[in-house]
Amino acid sequence: MIDHGRQHTVARSACLSGITLHTGSRVGLTVRPAPVDSGIVFCRTDLPEQPRVAACLANVVETRRATTIADGSAVVYTVEHLLAVLYAFGIDNVLVEMSGPEPPIGDGSATPFVELLDEAGAVEQDGSRKGLRIETPVCYEKGESCLVFLPGEGYRISCTVKYNCTPLDCQYLSLPVGRETFLAEIAAARTFCSYPEIEGLINANLICGGSLDNAIVIKDGVILSKEGLRFPDEFVRHKILDAIGDFSLLGARLQGRLLAVKPGHEANIELARLLSDNCNQ
Ligand SMILES: [Zn+2]
Repeated sequence: MIDHGRQHTVARSACLSGITLHTGSRVGLTVRPAPVDSGIVFCRTDLPEQPRVAACLANVVETRRATTIADGSAVVYTVEHLLAVLYAFGIDNVLVEMSGPEPPIGDGSATPFVELLDEAGAVEQDGSRKGLRIETPVCYEKGESCLVFLPGEGYRISCTVKYNCTPLDCQYLSLPVGRETFLAEIAAARTFCSYPEIEGLINANLICGGSLDNAIVIKDGVILSKEGLRFPDEFVRHKILDAIGDFSLLGARLQGRLLAVKPGHEANIELARLLSDNCNQ
């Protein structure tokens, strides 16, 4: 039995605000300390009666382009970047109040949430963390995505992507998942998309807040980005960021090795569901 340590919450409340990706509206987000065993819970303060949505696999309702959770009529879009930072910082319990349906997209990376959590700090609580140790290989394969979670010491993600749209895009990276590695290697990697992928969304007004301020766009083999790439292999780093966020919905400290070929939110969540069914908590 591995000791995953004590649970943690934020030491104090902290907030940020910004534009959301899908609606383009301005949203405020506040993290507040929460009790032991309460987990990560979102609260829609803009809706009547301020409904809450727990960040857990059972509440995932949509995985196209982003991970969306809902409880009843309360929906929270694009939770994965904030969840990745909470996991990397070891925050188990927190109340996330939002004045809209989606966290601010920031620059398309996890950096704004890193700054938020730095400000909020962390405090140990009187309760043990749950762990989830992968005992046997668990695999999910669909289309070009193939993911397998293997037994292993610690928690490590090895990921590869190839999109055939730029000379730079065949990338591989393997990293342990932890706070220091996350800060140095993962947090700054931004969302990316190909232009044909978003053209229809732009025309349908589905990404009103989307711009080169918060995503890298690849058009006709050319990388469009305000500041150039932050890492030569920024794409695979962002895929690892998304995976950390998606697998954190298992609500436990993971012990195993994820091998991921062209992962995406759907494949991440489907594999997480298989893990949840197969592993002893
Ligand atoms: Zn992402």
